[in-house]
Amino acid sequence: MTTSSFAPPAERLEQVRAFMNERVLPNEHILDQENDESDALVAKLRDEVRELGLWAPHVPPEAGGTGTGFLDYAYLNEQIGLTVWGQLIFGCQAPDAGNAEILHMFGTEEQKERWLFPLVAGQIRSFFSMTEPEVPGSDPTTLRTRAVRDGDDWVIDGHKWFSSGAEGAAFGIVMAVTDPDAAPHARATQIIVPADTPGVDVVRAVPTMGHRGRGWSTHCEVRYTNVRVPVTNTLGAEGTGFLIAQKRLGPGRIHHVMRWLAQMQRAFDLMCRYSLEREAFGEPLAKKQTVQNWIADSYVEIQACRLMTLDAAHKIDAGDEARVEVSAIKFFAAKVMNDVIDRAIQVHGAKGLTDETPLAHMAMMARGGRIYDGPDEVHRQVVAKRILRTFADGDGWHFQ
Ligand SMILES: Cc1cc2nc3c(=O)[nH]c(=O)nc-3n(C[C@H](O)[C@H](O)[C@H](O)COP(=O)(O)OP(=O)(O)OC[C@H]3O[C@@H](n4cnc5c(N)ncnc54)[C@H](O)[C@@H]3O)c2cc1C
Repeated sequence: MTTSSFAPPAERLEQVRAFMNERVLPNEHILDQENDESDALVAKLRDEVRELGLWAPHVPPEAGGTGTGFLDYAYLNEQIGLTVWGQLIFGCQAPDAGNAEILHMFGTEEQKERWLFPLVAGQIRSFFSMTEPEVPGSDPTTLRTRAVRDGDDWVIDGHKWFSSGAEGAAFGIVMAVTDPDAAPHARATQIIVPADTPGVDVVRAVPTMGHRGRGWSTHCEVRYTNVRVPVTNTLGAEGTGFLIAQKRLGPGRIHHVMRWLAQMQRAFDLMCRYSLEREAFGEPLAKKQTVQNWIADSYVEIQACRLMTLDAAHKIDAGDEARVEVSAIKFFAAKVMNDVIDRAIQVHGAKGLTDETPLAHMAMMARGGRIYDGPDEVHRQVVAKRILRTFADGDGWHFQ
C-alpha cells in the first residue's frame, strides 16, 4: 500500500495550503496572543474561509459543512494542523467537531435545529463533559455524575474537569450515570445541557503547563448542582452514553492524529533547515551523525504515521470502525509527534526554548496528546487485547 493509492482532494488541498501559508501562518504571532485582537482576527479569517467554500470540512453538507469523507479530511488536516489555530479558523475545532458528529448521527430533528446547525455554522461553541477529577478518566465506568429522572426532566449533579472550551460555550454534552444498576457500559447517558441552565457553574479554567487559555482554548472545571433539563435533551437512547462516546472518540482520535502530522512536518522542516544553517566545531550540525540519525528516524516515523493514518481513514470511509488501527495510530503518533518536536528543539539549542520559533509552543500543546482521548497505555491495551482475541478465537491477526 502506498499513499498514491489514496488520491488527495487536489484542488481543495491547494486552496487550504495557500490559505494557511498566506493568511494564517504569517499571523500566528497575533493569534497566539489570545486577546481581543486575536479574537477579531480569527473571526475575519473564518469569514474568508467561508467565502472560499472551505468551511467545516469534517461534516457533510447536510450537516452544514463541506466534508467529503475521512480520507479527504486527513489530507486537508495536514495543512490545517500546522498551527493549533487552523482548526478554529476552518470551523473544525475539537471538541465542537466531535460534538457535531454525534449530534448529526444521534440528534433528533429538534436537537439538530437548536444545536447542530448553529454549532457547525460557528455561531456557538460547545464542550464535552465526561472526565471527573475524583475518578480515573481511563476507566469511565467509574463516573460519578448522576442524572435522575424527575417527571419530564433530568436533574444532574456532578463534578467534571477538563471540559475543554466550556468558558463561553453555549452548551455542553454531559456524560452522566442514569442507571447505576445496569451493566457497566449501559449505566451512562449523554445529555445536552445549555450552559446558562441554573446550577451549571464553570468554576475555573484549569491552567495546563503554564497555559490558562481563553474561551475555546481553556480546559475547565465545571460543577453541576441540581441542574434541570428536559428529558428531550437526551442524546440518543438512555443508557447509550458509552456507545455514543465510542462513536465520537474513534473518529475524534483520527482528527487529532491528522493534525499532528502537520505538527510533525513543521518540526521536521525546522530541524532540517536549522541543522544546515547552524555550525558547531567547524561544520554544519547536519554533518553530525547524531543529527542525521534524528532526521532519519523522524522521516521513518512520520512516514509510518502518515501511511497508518491514511489507511485508518480509508477503512473508516469504507464503513469499518477500525478500532485496532485507530488505537494504534493514536498512541504511536502521539509519541512520534512529541519525539520529533523534542529533537527539533534539541537541534535549535537554547533558541528552541524561546518564542522565536514555534517549537516551544508546539511542545507544550503536544504533550497532552499522550493523555487526552485515552492515554497511550490504554490504547496499547486495546490493540493487544483485540489482536490476542483473534488468536484465542483460533484465527490470528491478518495485516492488510
Ligand atoms: C489537553 C486535554 C484536553 C482534554 N479535554 C477533555 C474534554 O474536552 N472532555 C473530557 O471529558 N475530558 C477531556 N480530557 C481528559 C482526558 O480525556 C483524560 O485526562 C484521560 O481520559 C485520562 O484520564 P485521567 O486524566 O483521569 O487519568 P487516569 O485515568 O487517572 O490515568 C492516569 C494514568 O494512569 C495510567 N493508566 C491508566 N490506565 C492504564 C492501563 N489500563 N494500563 C496502564 N496504565 C494505565 C496512564 O499512564 C494514565 O496517564 C482532556 C485532557 C487533556 C490533557
